[in-house]
Amino acid sequence: MNIHRPSPLEPDRATMVDMANMVTQQVATFLSTAHLRPAHDRTVPDAGEKLTDSFLARPPENSTPLEALLDRLGTAAESAIETAGPRLMAALPGGGIYSSALAEFFTRALNRYGTLAAAAPALTALEESVLRWMAQDVCGLPQGSSGVLTTGGSMANLSALVTARHDRLGEDIGRGTLYVSEQAHYSVAKAARIAGIRQQNVRVIPVTGNLTMDLRAAAERIRTDREAGLRPFLLVATAGTTDTGAIDPLADAGALAEREGLWFHVDAAYGGFFRLTARGRERTAGLESADSVTLDPHKALFLPFGTGALVVREPALLHAAHEGSATALQDVGESDVLPDYAQRGIELSRENRGVRVWLPLHLHGLSAFRDALDEKLDLADHIHGTLSTVPRLDVPWRPELTTVAFAVRPEGPGATAQRTADAATRRLLERINSEGGAVVHGTTVAERQLIRLCVLAHRTHKEHVDDVLRVITAAATDL
Ligand SMILES: *Cc1c(COP(=O)(O)O)cnc(C)c1O
Repeated sequence: MNIHRPSPLEPDRATMVDMANMVTQQVATFLSTAHLRPAHDRTVPDAGEKLTDSFLARPPENSTPLEALLDRLGTAAESAIETAGPRLMAALPGGGIYSSALAEFFTRALNRYGTLAAAAPALTALEESVLRWMAQDVCGLPQGSSGVLTTGGSMANLSALVTARHDRLGEDIGRGTLYVSEQAHYSVAKAARIAGIRQQNVRVIPVTGNLTMDLRAAAERIRTDREAGLRPFLLVATAGTTDTGAIDPLADAGALAEREGLWFHVDAAYGGFFRLTARGRERTAGLESADSVTLDPHKALFLPFGTGALVVREPALLHAAHEGSATALQDVGESDVLPDYAQRGIELSRENRGVRVWLPLHLHGLSAFRDALDEKLDLADHIHGTLSTVPRLDVPWRPELTTVAFAVRPEGPGATAQRTADAATRRLLERINSEGGAVVHGTTVAERQLIRLCVLAHRTHKEHVDDVLRVITAAATDL
């Protein structure tokens, strides 16, 4: 018989506190100095292949002290784009608020089951409160609307697409067609492929001058597809494109979908939470008519990576598309009033995902988030205003959200002048990244090279933006 010996897998109370202290000490130091590190740290002594090789090593047979491991983790985290700092203005920076990380520690340590309501009813109610708030208060969907927390926007788009397909096409999906704009996120086309929709049936609708979906072209395409015997089933609008933050005309798109009997999905991964502000609510008017909406709390709610959300007008349809049953779960029981998230999404075993959204919302209050988002909208206006005064730069679009795209102005009409301007834009981008201490990326819209500045990390404030603007204006003057 085995004699019970204390296992390192079950530390005693004092050891647990010591271990947690070591982690929080290091994290607090790391985060309180994040603003001092350049967005991309090129000064790590051992950076590059040697460093990554050392992290590919297999686990040891015997134990290693936590302190030594935390040291190594710190080195690994430093050799990275500084995503927690204020100077990342590429892609859609998130930041990661501290209170959410603490909530996650709580969740993981207590390890409650997250997908069957009867296994943890109060924690399920808490997660449901977050989802109803997102569906009803943020998106303006009716009473009864709710959804599911996912790991990100891509997973939310996938579940939305599967729900639309299940509801509108049933099992006969071969002739199903869906409609997205040129500026839609690629995760929609990826979701279509995973969901068994033919790539050729993903209709990419052109955009108008302000980079939003040309709804007349969409209506025309739906009509010709129907005449050709195809089955249009889904219209996907974007509330905040990843490239420039453009917002499709949501009310008109919703009306078109309604007229044509299409499911109306809005990908609001970027723009959705801006509805906490007056400007955001105004600019995304019409979102309330959606059948489903993708939100990404790890973007404009500043949460750490790994939290997305899909909210739907009719949760029963989400359930119908994702339900399943397992004999091994027959004794868990069911709740009459609370959902089993296993029946609303793709996953079964998972953590309770609500705590990491709920704790920050209750701890800081909605006003903290509203203020931060308003500040970011102001910063985008400030960037747009400043760059618009630089004669050598072209800043084509007033920001709807917090991304400003710009380019070096071509010196004349024609393709050659455009190519020269594109090359100058690329050189300007390199200078911003080498001198600005920031990370900024480019993009291509209508075959034209652009630079995009995106302000979305909660730690980014005016002084950080002004540092970058100074580099841009100086560089643009000696082009
Ligand atoms: C970021 C983004 C996505 C993908 O979300 P992930 O959380 O990265 O999976 C989808 N759509 C839009 C508009 C986005 O900005």
